Amino acid sequence: MIVRPALVRAGVATYRRRVRLLPVALAATTLTAMLGAPAQADGPGYKFFKAAGSPTKPGAYWDPCTTVRYGIDFTYARKQGLRVAREETRWRSAVQEVAEAMGVRFVYEGRIRSRAQNGVQPKSAAPVDLIITFGSESRRGRYGYGRVLSGPVAGIAGISWRQSTSAARVDYGYVIIDAKEVARRTDAITAPFDPRPATQRPPDVVRSLYMHEFGHAVGLSHVRDKKQLMYPRLLPERADTLGPGDLRGLRKLGNQRCF
Ligand SMILES: [Zn+2]
Repeated sequence: MIVRPALVRAGVATYRRRVRLLPVALAATTLTAMLGAPAQADGPGYKFFKAAGSPTKPGAYWDPCTTVRYGIDFTYARKQGLRVAREETRWRSAVQEVAEAMGVRFVYEGRIRSRAQNGVQPKSAAPVDLIITFGSESRRGRYGYGRVLSGPVAGIAGISWRQSTSAARVDYGYVIIDAKEVARRTDAITAPFDPRPATQRPPDVVRSLYMHEFGHAVGLSHVRDKKQLMYPRLLPERADTLGPGDLRGLRKLGNQRCF
């Protein structure tokens, strides 16, 4: 999850397993601890949501030898006035940067339809492994994700996995973006999505949000280092590109044995 600047308060648990909530209210704990913490690097600059043995060994990851198929549901984004083609380009560019850092193939299967399940995670009949959707802060309706998006939360993500002999294989991932939050941030942007490298143009905070949530959907957790995209607050002045710690973590996630 990521929260917009200001109005910071404790959030909700970020990750869900298939059956039950993880015992740790990760986001809430991290945020609270972080408010008074100095902006310094901690450890390797990345953290896996599920570690195995040591903090630098991922315990759950997508099979690096197969293709991960993802689809995006723009229905609610369109309802909020967002331009679908523009957000689609922004999303694909965000996924590409993460995928390249991992060395794992993510294939865009196109626009899909999905539905909120219990108001906390999306379900789709489309043949995809990873669902990206835009939701509302309402607790009702097909795109009602108020249980997880209310308050200052701009996005949330999760994964589920199947335990194998040595590690766990991620078999489902999702991202839910608060469409209103994005609409608010793109209001001032009249130009189309700028595809130049992030270092050659002004920061794109929405692309940062997309990359951050996608980082969760591939197994990364929050860090306390503001230089990393996995820092849990949107920093509008920060370039929308992966930090050195993010890169190290993503490389590890992609550099695992096949299942
Ligand atoms: Zn987050």
